[in-house]
Amino acid sequence: GQPVCECYDCYGGPDCSELSPECVADADSGDPIFLEPFWMQNVADSSILIPGWHRMSYQYDDYTLMSTELEYYIRKLHSIVGNAITEGRYMVFGVGSSQLLTAALYALSSENSSSPSNILATIPYYPMYKGQTVLFNSENFEFGGDTNSWQSNNSTNNMDVIEFVTSPNNPDGELKKSVLGGKTIYDHAYFWPHFTPIPGPSDRDLMIFTLSKLSGHAGVRFGWVIIKDKEVYEKLSKYITVADLGISKDTQLRVLKLLKVVIEKDGKPLFEFAYNIMKDRWDRLTCIFSKSTRFSIQKRHPLHCNFYNETRLPSPAYAWVKCEREEDDDCGAVLEASKIIGRSGSTFSAKNRYTRLSLIKSQDDFEMLLLRLTELVSLEIGSV
Ligand code: PMP
Repeated sequence: GQPVCECYDCYGGPDCSELSPECVADADSGDPIFLEPFWMQNVADSSILIPGWHRMSYQYDDYTLMSTELEYYIRKLHSIVGNAITEGRYMVFGVGSSQLLTAALYALSSENSSSPSNILATIPYYPMYKGQTVLFNSENFEFGGDTNSWQSNNSTNNMDVIEFVTSPNNPDGELKKSVLGGKTIYDHAYFWPHFTPIPGPSDRDLMIFTLSKLSGHAGVRFGWVIIKDKEVYEKLSKYITVADLGISKDTQLRVLKLLKVVIEKDGKPLFEFAYNIMKDRWDRLTCIFSKSTRFSIQKRHPLHCNFYNETRLPSPAYAWVKCEREEDDDCGAVLEASKIIGRSGSTFSAKNRYTRLSLIKSQDDFEMLLLRLTELVSLEIGSV
């Protein structure tokens, strides 16, 4: 009989070249696979081989838990990119930036359990802030919700608050600033030239960065925090030591190898590559949404970028889609009916009239997303 032909996902037909009409565009997760081709082009310089006897100790030769060479390269990276002041600042590594979110809360929160610190963020915000605060169920801090409703309901004078400021923001890409002006945790996961113009170096008390959205290596699980105050640094460092005795030496070695490639030629090859992909995706996405009145995406504002020394539009990691029609109050369901999976507004404590679409997945994922969006918007044009 006939040989059974098994095609890859989404393809069918006799020679597996036809796109299946059933295929769903999955734009849900923030997995940064868009940078995989860059690392394929840089295999030799970015690969490591670790002998069995290497780095067996808990500690480095200087009895610390952090590689001083890696710390040096991170400082160098920030000075090349111009996105953070690191001179005279302390640094702590974490298992992704995720681990550092709670470590920072621990370091900044009050030790007086009769008045726990209130943890706040501005809607729409990254759900992990609330998720971790609730999970830890600490006596020293609790989740207080949205900064804007907090402002109107409370006189913040005697209240101990810690505000998460995500800049650029996940999901909408805004370069946020503190609303309350008290203690802050600046989450700079996306503060890199491929997602946003860099108007100047961030000089905040506590700034969190991650390898995940810089080089795309989310699976390596590496983040770092830059801290002004010595006491805060010591508390945060204690958290990492007590929780894990520091982070994996294998991870630190791999990150070192990767960062050496990132800072080659002053960062030009990596950031050019990453920016060009993001710009191309935004150009094509903007073109589709410009033909729609039913759907809109966030407005982007040009800013001067110190790294490129020119004015540029941001190219955020996510599109924040709004369904404009009165009846489309569940935007995720509207998109899903057209085989587009996003992340609903309520995930970010916003209205479900909004949905987040990830633009940092693979090229195939993005092409499928554009195809399904084009079909969806053309229905609308057909109906006029
Ligand atoms: N902060 C923000 C705003 C994020 O979007 C993410 C990842 N999606 C993280 C922190 C955590 O990333 P990681 O733990 O991989 O560093």
